[in-house]
Amino acid sequence: MRYFDFSISKAGVMPTCPRTFWGAHFKLDTDVRPLFPYLNAVLKDARFYDKPECIEFIFEGFKGMLYRDEVIAAAFTGEDQAREFAQHLVDFLNDLNDRKDSLRPDFKKFTPVSVIDIYKILPQTNCRECGFSTCLAFAAALSKKETTIDQCPGLSRPISQYALYPVINREGDLVSTVSLEIDAAQTLPANQEAAAQAGLSDRELQVLRLLAAGSTNLEISEILCISPHTVKSHVVHILNKLGVNDRTEAAVWAVRHGLA
Ligand code: SF4
Repeated sequence: MRYFDFSISKAGVMPTCPRTFWGAHFKLDTDVRPLFPYLNAVLKDARFYDKPECIEFIFEGFKGMLYRDEVIAAAFTGEDQAREFAQHLVDFLNDLNDRKDSLRPDFKKFTPVSVIDIYKILPQTNCRECGFSTCLAFAAALSKKETTIDQCPGLSRPISQYALYPVINREGDLVSTVSLEIDAAQTLPANQEAAAQAGLSDRELQVLRLLAAGSTNLEISEILCISPHTVKSHVVHILNKLGVNDRTEAAVWAVRHGLA
């Protein structure tokens, strides 16, 4: 693979900025879409978009977008630096192509979370404890990463380590979930004490967490490497110990006790 049709142009910077930065654009002589899942797996902070199919990435400290056979990247101090980046990126893509059989591809697409979705998981009391005048204003700021989720003290705990937040209706039922891409350090600690009081074993707690995240018995069995029959048995024990009727009630119980 090689690059061609290289060009640079002034990158958009604040008019008050005394330095000039450049954006680069170049074409590749190969359709690199088959590499996208591998780039998604190995590049730090990569975002794999669906439409148009592309990868946003950071490589050697520069931010770029990789499409089927072209690259846009910024912000360089000059043409030499941009050309060096282009060559390094091509070398990297060639190397990745050579060793992709030894890598596990990541097909997960990036889905930005909308302000409305964030709003759904907030208490919606407009109590202002977060410093914003309304929950909607907080949601808008959070979507732009201008604040952090832990500024809302009334927010439910996430129901998985991937910050899957519950959407609970007025009747207390879990109706859906919203996934927020936030630093795990911002998530609230799980309440292990409630699990102990309910008499859940470590394995049952693992099953409950996965169940609350929406996993089926089959998926849980694959994740925990146990048989579906064993999962079913754990679920029955969990329902009995929690005194609930079905897995939805168990999931709601887990959410309320910060156990997922
Ligand atoms: S602290 Fe939470 S509930 Fe209160 S206004 Fe902010 S987002 Fe809404």
